[in-house]
Amino acid sequence: MSVYRKWYCTCKGLPVELVYEENFEEEKGEPFCQGCGATPSSDPKQTVLYRDIEDWED
Ligand SMILES: [Zn+2]
Repeated sequence: MSVYRKWYCTCKGLPVELVYEENFEEEKGEPFCQGCGATPSSDPKQTVLYRDIEDWED
C-alpha cells in the first residue's frame, strides 16, 4: 500500500480540496485554495488541513 496526502481548505465552511497550479517555472508546485489562495505554507487564517489517505490497492 501507499499513503498520499490530500489538502483541504475550510474557508467556505466545508472542506474543499486544494488544487495544484500548473506552473512550470516553479520546480516544486504547491497546492492552493481556489477560494482564498491559502497554501499549506501560507495559511494566515489557519483554514488549511490535510488528510493522509491509505491506498490499499497497491
Ligand atoms: Zn480557502
